[in-house]
Amino acid sequence: MLRYGIERFEMSHGPFGEFSTIATSYVTSLVSNGFLARNGWSVNRDDKESAIWLSGTLCHDTALQDAQTNPRLLDLRHSLESHLIEKSDVQYFESTNSEDDHYCAHKKWESLMLVCDTIYGVSSVKCTECDGIVAIYRLEPSSELASRLWSWDSQYAAIDACWVASGEYELWAGNELFDIKSKLNKCGLEIAATMTHEMDCEVRYFLPTDEGVRHISCPQCGGHFQKIHTPQYNAICDKCKIVTQH
Ligand SMILES: [Zn+2]
Ligand SMILES: [Zn+2]
Repeated sequence: MLRYGIERFEMSHGPFGEFSTIATSYVTSLVSNGFLARNGWSVNRDDKESAIWLSGTLCHDTALQDAQTNPRLLDLRHSLESHLIEKSDVQYFESTNSEDDHYCAHKKWESLMLVCDTIYGVSSVKCTECDGIVAIYRLEPSSELASRLWSWDSQYAAIDACWVASGEYELWAGNELFDIKSKLNKCGLEIAATMTHEMDCEVRYFLPTDEGVRHISCPQCGGHFQKIHTPQYNAICDKCKIVTQH
């Protein structure tokens, strides 16, 4: 079950506008560094009480606490804290509509899968052993890899939205999503290969299929698939590390 966090900051002195800007950069960094889900985060401002609430779905059980010690977020955190009366107040709730989702509790991984979470935008990395969500920050990616992942994930979600909307861009978006040779999938495969190298663990790439379409052989190398059984896919090409429906 996913959790939702709300962090409240109460300010001691002005100007409130500056504080509000720092709080917004802090929360956007939480999202791009993989602490909070891409979808559904918010910054709410209460001018009367000089307070701000940051909220979003956590990408791991301890995501907001972990963020307090992450070197990339410490500077922003310090700027926030210099404006505060006392320590911020954090509350956690169970996130709605997430009964089937869970966090991976493993600390080391033999194999991971790159798959965009187009619905909640929690994390584009899953553990293949327990099928749990692995928050990006837990993988301690280099800043270059983190920003490539963030950019790919956001573009994937936007293209998926074009496909779901069934409008003018449906055909183009469908090609981007389902054709292994598309720019989007080429970029995803390159990221999976970099992750495999940087994280010293196998990173597979999920290729979705259009309804009713099944791949007879690996769309990348034409080789035979090995069978595996999960709700989302049933085949893997051991050479290309592509997982899909056979
Ligand atoms: Zn796991
Ligand atoms: Zn292949």
